[in-house]
Amino acid sequence: MQSSQNIVMSGIRPTGYLHLGNFFGALCNYVRMQEEYPCFFMVADLHSLTTHPDNRTLRESVTRVLAENIACGLDPEKVALYCQSHVPETTELYLYFNMLAYKGELEKTTTFKDKARLQPDNINAGLLTYPVLQTADILLHRANLVPVGKDQEQHLEMARNFAQRFNHRYGDIFPEPQAFNYGKELVKVPSLDGVGKMSKSENQNATLYLADDDDSIRKKLMKAKTDAGPTESSQPKPDYIENLFVLMRLVSAPDVIAHFEAAYDSCTIRYGDMKKQLGEDMVGFIAPIRARAADIQADEQYLKKVMQLGAEKARASAAQTLTAVRTAMGLNYF
Ligand code: AMP
Repeated sequence: MQSSQNIVMSGIRPTGYLHLGNFFGALCNYVRMQEEYPCFFMVADLHSLTTHPDNRTLRESVTRVLAENIACGLDPEKVALYCQSHVPETTELYLYFNMLAYKGELEKTTTFKDKARLQPDNINAGLLTYPVLQTADILLHRANLVPVGKDQEQHLEMARNFAQRFNHRYGDIFPEPQAFNYGKELVKVPSLDGVGKMSKSENQNATLYLADDDDSIRKKLMKAKTDAGPTESSQPKPDYIENLFVLMRLVSAPDVIAHFEAAYDSCTIRYGDMKKQLGEDMVGFIAPIRARAADIQADEQYLKKVMQLGAEKARASAAQTLTAVRTAMGLNYF
């Protein structure tokens, strides 16, 4: 009953401005995958409710993420680009998977423990069952390829467990989804202060957003953590220096990267120069995306059409899955 075809699914929460981590961890893979596979990409607005966002700003956040997705190269005609809450079948499947998910394993999830620490007054059941909702998002389309960053590895492992449990109990309906990246490894874009990763909500001064203006980009990079420089040739790089090279490899030309690598190895590197160059290359990368996203976000009629078209495509695929699921579970009484 499973499809032998590769199907792609992924999503981004509308919890803030998209950043370089979202781009290199997720979006750049989406853009390539849309040429090769049937793809479902969504704005995960239901997921964002776990942190109780201000409902007056939700609409703006959702349209911005949509606009940023399109500005990065997603084509709403080629893929199903939709808003999670427009596909209520998701929540039905979420309920079925909740019956197969155990409290102990959910409590052990790293993201749950992190969030519980960050919001001790709001450890709600939605936060606990976040990986279950994510499983429903993916398996709603029986997707097997999930382009995500490294932070999502554990959730994907849980999705595979839930799929296996369902198949074992009710029959072979779901594939076991895998995290996907075109490179060898899943990507983690580090934050500029050398602590953790770039993120929508934490570490804002150490995160480069796709909506940042040119000056902010340059300033944030100039403030990135460095030191007095290497003292021995080919010395291993401390994490925060390697992070700058990671960013450079993402946006700078090969000869620029080679120049600074050689300067590091020969202990002649000047981090001020490196950060200045990286600032210019980063501005060159981000500015066109920022301008396109602003234009798209201003076109409300267009975004409404995108959402309608995306929801139609996603609901058609979801309906097929749920018919198979209800039948397998014995919920088809007439
Ligand atoms: P989120 O921002 O948590 O909604 O995540 C959306 C997508 O971006 C997921 O696929 C994450 O794995 C990816 N992502 C978020 N932050 C980073 C980062 N700093 N490096 C790499 N990928 C990331």
